[in-house]
Parts: sequence; structure tokens; C-alpha cells
Amino acid sequence: MSAVSSLCPEIGGYVVAKFGGTSVANFDAMNSSANIVLANKEVRLVVLSASAGITNWLIALAEGCDADKRADYLKQIHTIQHAIVDRLHDSDVIRQEINRLLENIKALSEAASLATSDALTDELVSHGELMSTLLFTELLRQRGTDVEWFDIRKIMRTNDHFGCAEPDNIQLQSLVTEYLLPRLQNALVITQGFIGREEKGRTTTLGRGGSDYTAALLGEALNLKRVDIWTDVPGIYTTDPRVVPSAQRIDKIAFDEAAEMATFGAKILHPATLLPAIRCDIPVFVGSSKNPQAGGTLVCDTTAAPPQFRAIALRRKQTLLTLHSLKMLHAQGFLAEIFTILSRHNISVDLITTSEVNVALTLDTTGSTSKNGYLLTNALMTELSTLCRVEVEEDLALVAIIGNQLSQVRGLGKQIFDALEVFNIRMISHGASNHNLCLLVPGKDAEQIVQTLHQSLFE
Ligand code: ASP
Ligand code: MG
Repeated sequence: MSAVSSLCPEIGGYVVAKFGGTSVANFDAMNSSANIVLANKEVRLVVLSASAGITNWLIALAEGCDADKRADYLKQIHTIQHAIVDRLHDSDVIRQEINRLLENIKALSEAASLATSDALTDELVSHGELMSTLLFTELLRQRGTDVEWFDIRKIMRTNDHFGCAEPDNIQLQSLVTEYLLPRLQNALVITQGFIGREEKGRTTTLGRGGSDYTAALLGEALNLKRVDIWTDVPGIYTTDPRVVPSAQRIDKIAFDEAAEMATFGAKILHPATLLPAIRCDIPVFVGSSKNPQAGGTLVCDTTAAPPQFRAIALRRKQTLLTLHSLKMLHAQGFLAEIFTILSRHNISVDLITTSEVNVALTLDTTGSTSKNGYLLTNALMTELSTLCRVEVEEDLALVAIIGNQLSQVRGLGKQIFDALEVFNIRMISHGASNHNLCLLVPGKDAEQIVQTLHQSLFE
């Protein structure tokens, strides 16, 4: 039992509900989300993303743009948020608050047009979540709920890796007890996902889609009963239904399978979301706020009779680096040097294969708000080229087959590669985990490969 739940046992029976951008996109979406919150007395804490589209406009502003574009983007943001304000009654106070944030956005985006920085980007981007939470709080208040708006930055301390900051769980645990817990005892609390604060007080963000992660971290810190992730699809599917319309909903899936799916590009959950859930064994439910009756997927510790093939995930825009060096031959420490350089540049490696004098690796570009996820800076390339010759291939895609006991079944390779006979597979990674087999393929073939595999493995 965590410190919090022993302090306050009834809190442990509560649920944290997170609503994604489409679930707070406009007044009607917010109203449906409010229905979900009000229908379940166990929901005591609500975490929100920015209204759909807002984060993208804010990032565009943060990248610095000319006055015309700036005016256009500001107008888009203004329109989305004011359309919600206009549907609230007695809206003077909330209108003023939203206008004040819009003024901030304007000033910050003017600063960004002179000089951009990752810290400025995060400050700007955080306004999306600040606005959506203010609007949702007001909507619930007008529906007669005891509700309180809470600035998550009070408790979500992170490092200063802007755009993809890592939260400090130890501080979160004690700050939750100090600041959030007393509020939860009195009211329903609405707070922001995705944003945090570093040591010097500057706003940070946890990476694109990071609100899920916030919800799970709060679920862990408060030792809650469940984390509900409300989005625009009723659960997790065997693959993206936009790519394969016959994809099937998975009713129950184990943490490790779902974590693989999230890591390998299934857009349904932020990849880090399941870490806190796994650490303290809190089930995560994923459902659609537009259609809560449709049910959803429960992600939990174990499931009965896990199937051999669970899902296929697709991650686009992959880059392959092939490093050639004669120094690798019979040498020690070459990979260590390469990885040291990559880590100095904050790059995490995804897949890796080696041969006599080559190493091929793919980079993980998911999630950061900064630099469009473009990681191959001149500084990095220069440093690598002192050690080896570097070749870069772009426009690849990663197709991950997720399942159980995959490294133990016979005939797996035949089944997969027979189905993919006509395609060129650039790289294969298999065996590190029982739960995945990954294929790096030309980006242009990716969807067809997913469709072919889905048909062969699931239909
Ligand atoms: N609003 C942020 C984003 O679009 C965070 C989130 O949606 O979870 O990435
Ligand atoms: Mg989102």
C-alpha cells in the first residue's frame, strides 16, 4: 500500500479519468465527457489534453513564423476555444481567463518568431492544456458539480529535457500527498495532462500524447483503483482500423503486450503510460468518450489464454543508420562508444543488428515536441563520423507483430515470410522479447504489409 492510501484509504477506491483531445475538442464533446465523469462516482480526478488541434497550432507558432501565418494560427486557436466559451452561460469570467491565456500565447509566439527555443515551445504548448481544463471545469461547475481546477505543475516536477521531460516520481509522491490529496477529499479535481515544471520553475512537457502518462503517474502516486483513458476509439484493436477496417477489438490485454503495442506505434496509448500501471498493478481501461456504451479494452496484469498473435503495430517515418567501421573487427567497446555518442545527443535506439564490420540501428523519434522529432543533427553526424562511416536511409516504416511466446514457436518465420513473399524487408529484429517480431520495411509498402499480415495472422 502506498503512503497515500494508508493515509487516506477511501482514495484507493477512486478512478482517474483522462480525456484526450477529441474528447474535449468542442462543447458537445466536453459535454459527453462530463456525462462520463458524472455517471461514475468513483471518478474523482480528471486529466485532460488540449482540445484537438490546439497543440499542433501551438507547436507551429513555437517554431517561429511570419506575421501572417501567426495571425492565422492564433485565429484558429481563438475560434476553437471561443466556440466553447460561447456555449457556456454567464461566461464573463471564463471568457476573461481564456482571453488572458490567448494574449499570453500571442506574446510568446511573437517571441518565438524572433528566437525559438525548446523551453519557449513547452511554455507555449502548455497553454492548450491550461485552456481545456479551465473550460471543462467551468462546464462541470455549471452542471452543478463541486469541482476544482488544479495546476499540475505544482506537483509534476520533471527534468529539463524540454519536449520530452521525465517526471520525478519521488517528488510526485510527496507533493501529491501535500497538495492534491486534500483537494480530492473535498471536490472533483480537474487537471492538465502532458505538462510539468523543472527545477528552475520553467514549464516542461512529457512528449506528444503525454497526458496518458500523467494520468497513469497520478494513478500510481495515489494508488487508485483504475486509470480510464477516454479517446475517440472504443478500445485497442488488433491493428489500426483505419488501415485494416476488419481489425478486431481486444477486450482484455496484458500489460506487457499492450506496452509493446504502444512502444511500436499503436497510437492508442503514450508508450510510457503503462510503466506506472505495471509498477503498481493498476488496470488501465481504454474507451471512446463518444460511445461509452460500446465498452473498451481493459489492460491488466494477466489475461486468460493469451493468443500467439495479439496485434500488429505500425510506426512510420523511421530512419535507419548503418555504421561501417573496420575498427569493429575483433574489437571491444566499439558499440559502447557509439551508444555513448547517441546518448549524449539524447537519442534512444530502437532496433539494432550487427555484422562483421557494420551496425545497423533505427532511432526512436516518437513523441518529442521539439525539432519535429528530427534527431540527426550536424553535431551528431560529425561526432559519429570520427568513428565510422555513416549511411542514412529514410522513409522506412516499422511493422511490429505483437504476441506471446513468439520466440518459442516453430514455423513462425515461415508463416510470416510466406505471407510477405513479394515485399522487400530491410531489417528484422526478433528474439529479444517473447512478445514481438519487428520488420523494417519501405514506408510506401507499410500499409499493404500490415493488411497482408493481418489477413494471414488474424482473419
Ligand atoms: N496535447 C498534447 C498532444 O497533443 C498531449 C496529449 O494529447 O496527451 O500531444
Ligand atoms: Mg492527444
